Amino acid sequence: MKANDHTRFKYPNQSPWAVPVAQTVSHPGDMQDLKVTFPAPEGIGDSFYGIPEGSDVSVSGTFSSLQSGLMFTGTFKATTIGQCSRCLTDISADEDVECSVFMPIVESTNAREDRLGLGSKIIERTLTEEEDDEDIYPLTGNGAFADFEDLIRDSFVQIIPSTPLCSPDCQGLCPQCGVNLNDYPDHHHEEHDDRWDILEQLKKDLEKNQK
Ligand SMILES: [Zn+2]
Ligand SMILES: [Zn+2]
Repeated sequence: MKANDHTRFKYPNQSPWAVPVAQTVSHPGDMQDLKVTFPAPEGIGDSFYGIPEGSDVSVSGTFSSLQSGLMFTGTFKATTIGQCSRCLTDISADEDVECSVFMPIVESTNAREDRLGLGSKIIERTLTEEEDDEDIYPLTGNGAFADFEDLIRDSFVQIIPSTPLCSPDCQGLCPQCGVNLNDYPDHHHEEHDDRWDILEQLKKDLEKNQK
């Protein structure tokens, strides 16, 4: 991590996707509304089709405080951009993703206090694997913050199509000349097979020889 990146962080030792929730966490039964716009984290789709890193992701929802952590239920909205995989036309779509996840309070560890280090990311991944539940996103900062980075990424990655299309019946490009067949539905090339030319020539040659 470059030193400059720290200027993006609103809370010391927390990611740019951290939301302070300490008050709510300490009062089981309480609710906390959230309405915020985050920058899209990296890794949602790719350069061909996805949500560009840093573009707007609006988050609205509610935390409900439980004994052992928070439930978050809400909606993420973002715009995917890219190209149709058949005709290469630029396409974009406004996507809404519903999410309902549990954010448990995780006991303090040295690794967790060092949130910015690479080490903490590895610990988190291991922890998730151990719990064997993809819908669990532990609170950070000893339960003081809900971090939306992984949650936003995971939620949108699920809806990125492997073959994005401008429309379900996109006709694609002409395999011979590359013209967009959606724009020129009647486009075609004269059927012409070189092999017939050769046969034709052979026939003429034979006829010539017979004379
Ligand atoms: Zn297309
Ligand atoms: Zn063509």
